[in-house]
Amino acid sequence: MADELISFEPATGAQLWRGAVGNADAEVAIACDGWPAWAAQSLSFRVETLRRFGNVVRARAEPFADLIARETGKPLWEARTEVDSVIAKVDISVTAYAERSAQRRLESPMGSRMALRHKPHGVLAVLGPYNFPAHLPNGHIIPALLAGNAVVFKPSEKTPATGAFLVECLRAGGVPDACIRLLIGGPAEGKALADHSGIDGLLFTGSARTGLALNRAFANKPEKILALEMGGNNPIIVWDTPDLHTAAVLVVQSAFTTAGQRCTAARRLIVDTQLYQPLIDEITKLVNRLIVGEPHADPQPFMGPVIDNDTADMLTESFLALLMRGGRPLRHPERPIESRPFLTPGMIDVTDMAERPDLELFGPLLQVIRADDFDEAIAEANNTRYGLSASLISQTPALYDRFWSNIRAGIVNWNRPTNGASSSAPFGGIGWSGNHRPSAYYAADYCAYPVVSNEADAARATIGIGVRDS
Ligand code: NAD
Repeated sequence: MADELISFEPATGAQLWRGAVGNADAEVAIACDGWPAWAAQSLSFRVETLRRFGNVVRARAEPFADLIARETGKPLWEARTEVDSVIAKVDISVTAYAERSAQRRLESPMGSRMALRHKPHGVLAVLGPYNFPAHLPNGHIIPALLAGNAVVFKPSEKTPATGAFLVECLRAGGVPDACIRLLIGGPAEGKALADHSGIDGLLFTGSARTGLALNRAFANKPEKILALEMGGNNPIIVWDTPDLHTAAVLVVQSAFTTAGQRCTAARRLIVDTQLYQPLIDEITKLVNRLIVGEPHADPQPFMGPVIDNDTADMLTESFLALLMRGGRPLRHPERPIESRPFLTPGMIDVTDMAERPDLELFGPLLQVIRADDFDEAIAEANNTRYGLSASLISQTPALYDRFWSNIRAGIVNWNRPTNGASSSAPFGGIGWSGNHRPSAYYAADYCAYPVVSNEADAARATIGIGVRDS
């Protein structure tokens, strides 16, 4: 990568931000010096500092949302909800820390005390993705700082401006400069940070490809914590539902919100063969009405562009590849402006394809599969290496019971979309979606380690058995 990183607005191509590429050695060294003093502060001091950060974001909410909308291309209404999530993360993390990392007295023999407390790891690296450039790294950063760690944060090379803004807000709230470091750069800087001997762990949100590489790199470092939040190839099943319009709304929300650039987006619609045509007709009617447009357009669009032209090209080529392998087009994705990465929703029936690739196509493309019975539908839903989110649209509780028992996913939804998960719940998946270290409410678990101390004011001990009389 060059010495400088430039961020462009996907919707217009205008240059948004430029900044120098950073150096992992320098950032880790500063964080290593900074974290002991932060860890030595009381928990209430760190809580108050992070609450001040929340207030800084509140005061800067509109410019923050504007920046996220420009840098990602997501509509302003949606960028505002991302800023709301950044603010809400503080109180949720405080509650989660109190519940999951609380100090406790435990039973102990012979008049001694046993205490359970949690300690921070030290310096944690955070690598962020581009699709929620503030909310998702923040979901690691806030619990990490709260627990007393210092953080070196490398935002995605596609959204450095949002990363820099987030760090400014943390510092404005009073987090010491040495405890929240910003590393600007791309995969090379990410790799340098991940490989750095000075970090005590890595908290990652991004693609399975990168996550698997990190997992390999950490294989001989059991002393470091590694939390991986990766992608999904998420199914939504539509079965025995009387209201096909609502089912279509839920499918469209699941597949196309954020231009399909959510880890929880539905990639595969699995539908009862008998409902297939009327449901596809409803979905198509709705999709034809969706506004795809610039983030600041008035009226607001449903979705903006994907992140860049390379991604839009890759997605249209992937659609063609599915066609060539036997997929039947239901709706071709289109590029209304050739030079910009706006992409209208695409849908393709892949039921008769001999071998369906188990890939996360991270954009507004939906694959459709017909199933003749419910067991077949569940088998199709589980026909993936991933396991993040899954939805069932059905009016029958007994079917939901079967779905809940048999579906392999960390987030299971009934008559709800696959996306829109709550920060108040654990967030993670199985298979290639993560490494069993869920984030959101459970982030507290990977930001501190439990220490049991067995304590007595005075030394008191006797050996009762196996000692000769003197
Ligand atoms: P990405 O894997 O390309 O990049 C993520 C981060 O890792 C970036 O900061 C990048 O610079 C860095 N990176 C890339 N290669 C690296 C390497 N070899 N070593 C170290 N760092 C490296 O992901 P992305 O394209 O920015 O984001 C989209 C992906 O993120 C999708 O797969 C999506 O499903 C996933 N995602 C997952 C969640 C979740 O919580 N499970 C949430 C949002 C997005």
